Amino acid sequence: MKQELIDGDYGEDCWIIEQKMESVFEVGAALERIKRTKSYKVEFKTWEEFCDNKINRTASYANRMISAVVVKESIPKKASRHITNEAQARALASVPAEQRAEVVLDLVASQVPVTEASILKSVPIGILSTPATELDEEKQEIPDALIPIWRRRDEIQKLLSACSLIKSAVRSACNEQDALWVELTDMQQTQRDLANIWTQLKLAMPYAVCPTCRGKEAKCEDCKNCSGRGMVSQFRWKQTS
Ligand SMILES: [Zn+2]
Repeated sequence: MKQELIDGDYGEDCWIIEQKMESVFEVGAALERIKRTKSYKVEFKTWEEFCDNKINRTASYANRMISAVVVKESIPKKASRHITNEAQARALASVPAEQRAEVVLDLVASQVPVTEASILKSVPIGILSTPATELDEEKQEIPDALIPIWRRRDEIQKLLSACSLIKSAVRSACNEQDALWVELTDMQQTQRDLANIWTQLKLAMPYAVCPTCRGKEAKCEDCKNCSGRGMVSQFRWKQTS
């Protein structure tokens, strides 16, 4: 039985995201409600802006979390309770919807641990849905040669998150007039500096396949738009696409 998706309270959903970053399904469900009801508009113009600023993750990362929830909720509870991580949900997504519960329950009945690998192994290859090609933030297919650099975005994401963490820690320390921070008198300037660092770091983040060379190896090397990386930042994308 498919569960009904209910509308939530924006503040409460943001609280869940902040407090429970480790729980992919709770976070995914909160994100799903925010995206579906467009309640992010309370603070941001677009879903992408909300993801970038509120949860420090890309919209495609948030969309993956939402997909995990949708897959989990597409099967009855007796099967869905065995789906506890995103990898299992991702594997299950490649199984046709009407066979998902059966695949999980068969594994349980055979006392095989329900994992990404066991899910994929338990269905004949012909039955698996074609795995989705990896797409950039503009929904363009990413050429194989660029996949390694695309998958390293987390290295930059960690620094962006650290930067946001410092920014909010400094802001709350100053707002609370904590004696420890008494010599930091120009909080506005510190906030501007940190925002500037965040913006600079964001320029390193691959956002989309370069619109000039299309990431094609032969042309890419001499491409002035992406400096040979084959991918551009969101900032450069907006300027050059
Ligand atoms: Zn290029």
